[in-house]
Amino acid sequence: MLFDKRKITVIPGDGIGPEVVSAALKVIEATGVDIEPEIRVAGAEAFKKDIESGVPDETIESIERTKVVLKGPLETPIGFGNKSANVTLRTLFETFGNLRPVRELPGVHTPFTGRKLDIVIVRENVEDLYTGIEYMQTPGVAQALKIISRTGCEKIVRLAFEFAVAAGRKRVHCATKANIMKLTEGMLQHTFEEIAKQYPEIESKHILIDNCAHQLAMRPEQFDVIVTTNMNGDILSDLTSGLTGGLGFAPSANIGSDVAIFEAVHGSAPDIAGKNVANPTALILSAAMMLRHIGEGDCAHDIEEAVLVTLESGVRSGDMAGETKPSSTTEFADAIIANLGKKSKTVGAHRDFRAVRISPSSEDVQAVETKARKVTGVDVFIESKLQPEQLAADLNDICAGTTLNLHMIGNRGNTVYPADDGRKVTLIDQYRCRFMKKARNDALTNSEILALLTKIGEAHTWMHIEKLQQFDGEDAFSRTKS
Ligand code: NAD
Repeated sequence: MLFDKRKITVIPGDGIGPEVVSAALKVIEATGVDIEPEIRVAGAEAFKKDIESGVPDETIESIERTKVVLKGPLETPIGFGNKSANVTLRTLFETFGNLRPVRELPGVHTPFTGRKLDIVIVRENVEDLYTGIEYMQTPGVAQALKIISRTGCEKIVRLAFEFAVAAGRKRVHCATKANIMKLTEGMLQHTFEEIAKQYPEIESKHILIDNCAHQLAMRPEQFDVIVTTNMNGDILSDLTSGLTGGLGFAPSANIGSDVAIFEAVHGSAPDIAGKNVANPTALILSAAMMLRHIGEGDCAHDIEEAVLVTLESGVRSGDMAGETKPSSTTEFADAIIANLGKKSKTVGAHRDFRAVRISPSSEDVQAVETKARKVTGVDVFIESKLQPEQLAADLNDICAGTTLNLHMIGNRGNTVYPADDGRKVTLIDQYRCRFMKKARNDALTNSEILALLTKIGEAHTWMHIEKLQQFDGEDAFSRTKS
C-alpha cells in the first residue's frame, strides 16, 4: 500500500533565505526522511505584487493544509503602513509560543566557552507591545498598548513546562517586569506561580527581567528554560544567541495549537545575500526541531549530531572562521551531510525528547469570570497646554453639580494634581484626569460618564477614556504614582 509523503510548506524568504533554506532541504533529504516540501512565497516578493499582508493566499492555503512550515527570513519593509509578513504569519496562525534554544557548540569560541550553556527561551509570541496597537495621542505623544491576557499567559507557561518535561529539563525561570507593570507583567508571574504547582518535578523560579539580563551576562549556566513576555523574550533570546556564537547558530520554533513555523532567529542579512557565505546552521537546526515536531525524532537527532561532528572537525562558516579559510554555505551543508550517522564527542549532545503536549485551540471566547464587578471611576485623557492647577480648576468647575469628583491629574505617570511637594516635572500635553464617584461605594454608570465627557468636550480636547473597574472587590487599575 502506498502512503502519501508528509507535506511541509517551505518559504525560502528574502536575502540569504533561499541559500540557507536550500542547504537545510538538502540535509533533510539526505536523512532519507519521507517528506515533500511545497515551496511557497512570502515577504518581499509578495509586497512587490502589492499583497499588503506580505503573505499570498496560496501560501496561507498550503500552511492551513500542511500545518508545518520551514521558513527563511522575511524582510520587513520599513515605514508607515507596511505590515511585517512575519507578524502576519504569527498572527494568522496564532503561533503563540516561540522556542529559542541555544547551546555551547564545539569550536564556536565565545567568552562563555567551557560553561556548557544550554538555554531555551520560551517567548510569548502574539501579545504584549507587539500587537502593534499604537496611537498618536497628541501631535507629540505616542502610545502603544501592552495587551497581556490570562489565556495567553496560561498557554505560554504551559508550553514552557511541557517543553521542559518533554526535553528532560530541570528548571524553568519566569522573567518579568512585574515590580513595575503589576497588572500586565504581573499576570504572567501569577499565572506562572499557579501553574508551576502542577509540575512539581520541575524547579520553578520568578526573576525580574533586568536581573535576568544581568545574570545571563554573569552566570548564564544557572539557566535552563526561561519563559517571558513577547518583547522581553525578543531581547533576551538575541542576548542568549550572542552568548553561544551569534545569530548564525540560533534556531527557533513558533508553536501554535494547529500550526508550527520553524525558522532561524536571524534576519535576511542583506549585507551578505547571494554570496554563498551565510552560515546555514541556524536553519538546519530549525529543520531538526521541525522534524522532531512531526515525529521524526531520529532524523532530527541525526542532523543535530552531524552539525556537532562537522563543527568538531574544524569546518567553519564565514561568520566564525577567524583566520581559517571559511566554508561556503553549500560546502558547510555538504560537510554536515557527509557526517550524517556519525556520533558527536560533545558532552551532553544527546538529549531524549518526547513530544511536547500543546494546548488545543478553542473556538470559545476566553474570559475569566468574576462574582462581583463595578465601575468606580473613569480616567479621561485630555490634550492640554494648561498648567495642572489651571486644568484642575476647570475640571473641578465641570464636576460641580455632577456625581463625580476630580480625584487626581497625572502627567506621564506623575501625579501633578493635587501636588504639594513643589517637585518640578517636565510636563507634556497629555493629562490623565481621574474622576471618582462622590459616594465612593456607588457604581458609575455609562450615562454619567457620557455626561461628563460631553461637558469636558465643550472646553477641552479629550482623546480616550479608561473605566476604572473593581473585580471581586479588587481595584483593576494601577494606583497613581507621585
Ligand atoms: P540580520 O539578522 O539579517 O543581520 C544581522 C547581522 O548578522 C548582519 O551582519 C548579518 O550579515 C549577520 N548574519 C545574520 N544571519 C547570518 C548568517 N546565517 N550567517 C552569517 N551572518 C549572519 O538582522 P537585520 O540586518 O537587523 O535585519 C535584516 C532584515 O531581516 C530586516 O528586514 C529585518 O526586518 C528582517 N528580519 C527578519 C526576521 C525573520 O524573518 N524572522 C528576523 C530578524 C530580522
